[in-house]
Amino acid sequence: MTHPKHTIVIGGGIVGASIAFHLAKSGMQVDVIESQQPAQQASKVSYAWINARDKHPFGYHELNRRSQDMWRRFEDDLQTDIGLVWGGEMRWSATETGAMQFRSRITELQEWGYSIREISLEEATELEPGICFGNPTSVSYTDSDGHVDPEKVVDGCLSSVRQTGGLIHTNESVTNFIKDRNSISHVVTTKDTYPCDSVVIAAGTETPKIAEMLGYKFQNIHSPGATVITNILTEPLFNSIAAMHSPRDLEGVLINSRQLTDGRVMIHGGTHSGSIADKSIEDAEMLIQETAKYLPSTRDLRVQEVRSALRPMPPDGLPVLGRLVSTPNAYISYTHSGVTLAPLIGEIAALEIKTGVETEILAPYRPERFNR
Ligand SMILES: Cc1cc2nc3c(=O)[nH]c(=O)nc-3n(C[C@H](O)[C@H](O)[C@H](O)COP(=O)(O)OP(=O)(O)OC[C@H]3O[C@@H](n4cnc5c(N)ncnc54)[C@H](O)[C@@H]3O)c2cc1C
Repeated sequence: MTHPKHTIVIGGGIVGASIAFHLAKSGMQVDVIESQQPAQQASKVSYAWINARDKHPFGYHELNRRSQDMWRRFEDDLQTDIGLVWGGEMRWSATETGAMQFRSRITELQEWGYSIREISLEEATELEPGICFGNPTSVSYTDSDGHVDPEKVVDGCLSSVRQTGGLIHTNESVTNFIKDRNSISHVVTTKDTYPCDSVVIAAGTETPKIAEMLGYKFQNIHSPGATVITNILTEPLFNSIAAMHSPRDLEGVLINSRQLTDGRVMIHGGTHSGSIADKSIEDAEMLIQETAKYLPSTRDLRVQEVRSALRPMPPDGLPVLGRLVSTPNAYISYTHSGVTLAPLIGEIAALEIKTGVETEILAPYRPERFNR
C-alpha cells in the first residue's frame, strides 16, 4: 500500500480538527473543508465534560479513559489556551432506590479502575460549601474529570494546520467524490474540485449522508441537545470540582453545570432522550432557576445565549472509526463523546491513515459492522 501524502478532512468540528492537527504534525499535507465556520455545530453546543463516568461497556469506558489522560499532552502540543479545567465531578442520589443503583455503578467503576469514591455529606459540603445537596442518600466524587472549550481547541488545531501550509476552506460543502477504481481521487464541493490521495469524513451528524455517497448506510440517531450560557458569575461557581450533576433519580429537570474560564456558567439540562431546553428563552430561564436550587450563587444570572444541535449519534451509540473496505482511502470518524475522545481519535486516526496500520484499540469500532 502506498502511504498518502495529501489528506482532505471534511468537517471542522473538534473531531475533524484534531485529526487534521495530528496529520499535519506527522508531516502530511492537510486541507480542511467546512460547510459553515469551524466549531459551530455539536462542538460549540457541547457540554464538553471530559469523562469516562457514564460510558459502557468496559472497552468503551477504557477508550474514553485513555483519551481523558491524553488531554494534558494535547494541550501542551497545541501551545495555546484551550480553556481546560480539571477538578473532578460530583453528583448524588436523592432516593433509597436511586442510592442502590448509584452505589452499584460506583463499585463497577472502581472495579474498572476509575478514580471514583462515595463520600459523606460532611466531606461533600467541605469540598463544595456552595452546593445545596438537600438530603442525599449517597454522594460520589471523581477527581479525574474536567472540561474544555471546544471552540478554542478547534481554533488551536486549525491554526497549527495553517502554519504547516494547510488550507481551511469555509462556507463550502462537500457534495460528491470522483473515484479512480476503488479510490477517491478528488473531492467535489459547492465551489471547486480538489485532488487528494486520502479523505477523512468527520462531518458530525452529516457523516452518514456523506458515507452514503460511497455506498455505506448507517443512520444518525435523532438526539437533540441544548446548552445555556449565562452572563459572567464574578465568583467561582465551585470550590474545586469542574462539574456538578444533579440527582438522576428525581422527577423533573436534570441539571449539569460548569463554569467557563471567563466566568460564564454553562447549564446543560435534560437527558439524552429528551433535552429540556431548545432554543426557547423560557426553557433557558427555567434551567437557571432550577440550577439555583442546587447552586444559590447562580440565582441572579441571566441567559446570554442558548445553543442547540443534534448530537452525532451512531446507531449503537459507539464510535465509527476507520477505513471503508470498499474505498480504503476514505476514513470515517463519527462519534458521540467527541470532546472527551478528540485527542485519542486525532492521534490514532492520524497513525492509521499515515501508516496504513489497523490498531487493536479501534478494532471494535470499524464502519464495517453496519455494512455486513
Ligand atoms: C448538547 C450536547 C452535549 C454534549 N456533551 C458532551 C460532553 O459533555 N462530553 C463529550 O465528550 N461530548 C459531548 N457531546 C458530544 C460532542 O460534542 C460531539 O461528539 C462532538 O462535538 C462531535 O464533534 P464533530 O467534530 O464530530 O462534529 P461537529 O462539531 O458537528 O462538526 C462537524 C462539522 O462538519 C461540518 N460539515 C457537515 N457536513 C459537511 C459537508 N458536506 N461538507 C463540509 N463540512 C460539513 C459541519 O458544519 C460541522 O462543523 C455533546 C453534544 C451535545 C450536542
